[in-house]
Amino acid sequence: MERLGTRRSPRGCGSAVWCGGVVFRVFTMAKPRRAIVIGGGAVGVSAALHARMRGWDVTLIDPRGVAGGASSGNAGVLAVSECVPVGSPGTIRSVPRMLASRDGPLHIRPAYFPRLLPWLLRMVVASTPSRVEELSIALASILEGAVAAHEELAGPAGVRGSIVPTGWLKGFETEAGFRGSAADFALMRRRGIACDELDGNGIARLDPALKGRFARAVFHPGCCHVGNPHTYVRALGDHLLRLATACLADEVTGFDLTGGVVSGVRTRTQSIPADAVVVAAGAWSKPLAAMLGCKVPLDTERGYHMMLDARDCETKLQHPLYWADKSIVISPMGDLLRVTSSVEFAGLQAEPDFDLVLRNLPHVERLLPGVRLVPDSTWLGFRPSIPDSLPVIGPVPGVANALLAFGHGHLGLTLGPVTGKIVGAMLDGEAASIPTAPFSPSRFT
Ligand SMILES: Cc1cc2nc3c(=O)[nH]c(=O)nc-3n(C[C@H](O)[C@H](O)[C@H](O)COP(=O)(O)OP(=O)(O)OC[C@H]3O[C@@H](n4cnc5c(N)ncnc54)[C@H](O)[C@@H]3O)c2cc1C
Repeated sequence: MERLGTRRSPRGCGSAVWCGGVVFRVFTMAKPRRAIVIGGGAVGVSAALHARMRGWDVTLIDPRGVAGGASSGNAGVLAVSECVPVGSPGTIRSVPRMLASRDGPLHIRPAYFPRLLPWLLRMVVASTPSRVEELSIALASILEGAVAAHEELAGPAGVRGSIVPTGWLKGFETEAGFRGSAADFALMRRRGIACDELDGNGIARLDPALKGRFARAVFHPGCCHVGNPHTYVRALGDHLLRLATACLADEVTGFDLTGGVVSGVRTRTQSIPADAVVVAAGAWSKPLAAMLGCKVPLDTERGYHMMLDARDCETKLQHPLYWADKSIVISPMGDLLRVTSSVEFAGLQAEPDFDLVLRNLPHVERLLPGVRLVPDSTWLGFRPSIPDSLPVIGPVPGVANALLAFGHGHLGLTLGPVTGKIVGAMLDGEAASIPTAPFSPSRFT
């Protein structure tokens, strides 16, 4: 176990607050308030930073260290446009077609299907037009402050410059493909998201590397891009250490829970006392929440990346690109491009199937001539996904001092800092800046 730094802070207060339908009690104490944050991804690090900035004595615990999970290898898009839940009438209609095609974006390993079925059924229930409308309102509300929340943490951490206002481009090879996404863009516009439509000439003007490649595109100017999510989240983690937070390379295995109050966590090597705990363990959070008595329908949408060397490309791609026809994202990262793809349901233990991303190589070579695969650059990550596409943020029903903060699916990098800010407010018994009831863990009970 590695202990990197710690300091006690002199702050204590007490109150009870109504948060998302259950009372989250903050204890009155003269001594420093100790918070344990479980998980060192974008969400956990952000929650720990906000807790620390509010004077909590914070211990962050993660066996993989900071940014060892999904937060390291993602596409780096701060995708504040994405207020459309994954499950929608359109998605449900296209599932059989997607599953039938080995080249499609969706894969369910047959052996995993029985375990996934309840999750899928919940997603179907959440996919009615009226529910999709409600979910998009909740998503838009939390996405709205996401970039500002990044800046708030990235500035003091010295990586404000890593957040580049590139916008996000979605390219369609055919008019028909573009029309097929019309309902999603209409929903985004209803939520106030800018969706600038471009024809071939407009695409070539915006990003010359794509001249003649797409018939239509939509550009979301409000989105940003983080050139290297791993270094970025690590920089936030380094800032945490500078703020004298303890970061332990250890795994949480249980809680000391009596009478609805957590008094500490148990790890592989020790017991650590706590006045509050935050479960932010991404796709691994389900058993931890269950130990606290909260059943959450969390599964993982596995996703892959490969890295391409773009130094020999005549014209460099300027913007992160979603290639709609292939369901892949291509992100410029310095001289490299990161290609992310696939939603694969196979749980946390199954071996990776890197072919799911590598088979896109010929497509990208045709789109951007000159790219070369970087050897051994494939990666598998675990999106923590909830059937209604809303993250779980809030107090554990029936446990006075435990908060959940996970389930951000495709948007965890985008939403990490804003979630951290909400967690900070909840720890101190303050109202968050947005209504948090839609994200409450009590919505599953
Ligand atoms: C291919 C791909 C592309 C993506 N692209 C984007 C994108 O462009 N933009 C975007 O916003 N999002 C994107 N995402 C989603 C995003 O990466 C995730 O939603 C986000 O990283 C989740 O963050 P997290 O902090 O919740 O989880 P993680 O980053 O996975 O961190 C969870 C941590 O918890 C730790 N942990 C687990 N169990 C325990 C335990 N018992 N004790 C202590 N620690 C524990 C793990 O070791 C892990 O480090 C993408 C995901 C994938 C897979």
